[in-house]
Amino acid sequence: MLGQLGDEAKLLAGGQSLIPLMKLRFANPRHLVDLNFVAGTSYIQEDNGAVKFGALTRHSEIENSPISQRFPILHDCAAGIADVQIRNRGTIGGSLAEADPSGDWATVLLTQKTDIRCLSPRQERTVPLSDFITDAYSTVLEHDELVREIVVKRPDKGSGGAYLAFKRSAPVYPTVSAAVQLTMKEDVCQHASIVLGCVGLVPVRAQEADEALRGRKIDDKVIATAMDAVRTAVDPQPDMRGSAEYKRTLAAALVKRAISIAMLRARGERVEVSHIYA
Ligand SMILES: Cc1cc2nc3c(=O)[nH]c(=O)nc-3n(C[C@H](O)[C@H](O)[C@H](O)COP(=O)(O)OP(=O)(O)OC[C@H]3O[C@@H](n4cnc5c(N)ncnc54)[C@H](O)[C@@H]3O)c2cc1C
Repeated sequence: MLGQLGDEAKLLAGGQSLIPLMKLRFANPRHLVDLNFVAGTSYIQEDNGAVKFGALTRHSEIENSPISQRFPILHDCAAGIADVQIRNRGTIGGSLAEADPSGDWATVLLTQKTDIRCLSPRQERTVPLSDFITDAYSTVLEHDELVREIVVKRPDKGSGGAYLAFKRSAPVYPTVSAAVQLTMKEDVCQHASIVLGCVGLVPVRAQEADEALRGRKIDDKVIATAMDAVRTAVDPQPDMRGSAEYKRTLAAALVKRAISIAMLRARGERVEVSHIYA
């Protein structure tokens, strides 16, 4: 249908980004192709060490799924998106396709090995999430291509992750967010992945902060070095939510908290996480 209707047609999933943009007249598609009527597009499956999400899987379905208990960073993300009405409608596929710099899913899933399965009349292709988002609100998707499935590899044994956002209130996007995934062997960090949201045009990987943790026993000094690296990695824009310096400080503080939660989870401890509200 997208091929037939041409450039003036847009896909509609949960409508939680597109409909507000249409109300504001920032988007004005002549046609909407509603994916909600396509059977078999909403599912959560575990297969061969990976979790697969159909593109139309709602945030609330992930929040309430048993997989969230075993893969808690997914619960941190899904349960913290806006309010229950938005979580009941909004989809993981729509969120990644929208590539909003303030969206939660891309920040979290970039700490994992995540592939996006895309489908068009010509081909089916698998794109790593790290290549999928090209800029703010931009992806590699062609006009008649859609997100079909999101595949997230289960983390290694001894691994734990955490996602925290700082928000002014529940139904708004975060001011800053931080996702951390650690693989630990005894007290030593084998692998670290730190990604920050809302502090650049796309989620920001803090690779120097990863390096600061890797191969080290994580103590206050090591965490302080990682926090310095986070402050340097981010490039936040000042806006009504705060100055650039405020957001830089916030990013480092969220990473510090997320590291301590990820370490506990890597040890197998159960830690409930909720976003921080101003
Ligand atoms: C008040 C409010 C607060 C919000 N707060 C947050 C928040 O804190 N964190 C957060 O992450 N999000 C937040 N959201 C956004 C919400 O998570 C959306 O659900 C999400 O961004 C888009 O998903 P959707 O399914 O609603 O997509 P839609 O709005 O239906 O579509 C969004 C875009 O993606 C395209 N699209 C949709 N599905 C596909 C697909 N399968 N393949 C290709 N293209 C597709 C559409 O054509 C459109 O361009 C908020 C929304 C509102 C209204």
